[in-house]
Amino acid sequence: MKIVAAKKILKANDQLAEENRERFTSAGIFGVNIVGSPGSGKTTLLEALFVRLKGRAKPAVIEGDIAGSIDAERIDAMGIPVVQINTEGACHLDANMIAAAARDLDLEGVDLLVVENVGNLVCTAGFDLGEHLRIVVLSVPEGDDKLAKYPAIFQGSDALVITKIDLLPYIKFDVDRVIGDMVRLAPQAEIFQVAAIKGEGMDSLAEWLARKCHAGKRTADNPAPDHS
Ligand code: MG
Ligand code: ZN
Repeated sequence: MKIVAAKKILKANDQLAEENRERFTSAGIFGVNIVGSPGSGKTTLLEALFVRLKGRAKPAVIEGDIAGSIDAERIDAMGIPVVQINTEGACHLDANMIAAAARDLDLEGVDLLVVENVGNLVCTAGFDLGEHLRIVVLSVPEGDDKLAKYPAIFQGSDALVITKIDLLPYIKFDVDRVIGDMVRLAPQAEIFQVAAIKGEGMDSLAEWLARKCHAGKRTADNPAPDHS
């Protein structure tokens, strides 16, 4: 029987992630890793973003799901190059999967590569994919206690997007508590509040992402999450 320590796997992943990042950077591609629970509205957020980024960025997408291609079909319907990864049970993407999926993508002219991770607030936190920026999505129906319960994923993210804020009148969700927790966990992170379908808050999020994309790779004051 072979036993492989989780720490070793993470170390190998970090090395591959660094290679991905260098490849994307030298190709002029800005990588974004979108993480969040199932149903938090990640794909809907991407649809709303891409409409607003038209003419300002040329995106491509890697979709990560345990099964099926529902999300990839939605992105494909927008005419955006997309590859679906089926993890067949695995609850997160890793840098190796991203390297393979990127080879299957036509990245000609692409300057924004968005990875929609498997819906999961737990182990997605530990796997650097080689992105330049990580955005964590939290929807109002999930509750305002998630930062306290799953701190690692929020701690390592560059931005928090609170989605479905149009549901605030119907759900007990303390926005100030969430913002306070995020400021404690990730003081440098940007915080956005959006209702993606109605469009509320989407312009400023798109504006910020376009600026980040053009400014290029992750800088020293915005380092990659530490997995040690
Ligand atoms: Mg999705
Ligand atoms: Zn996992």
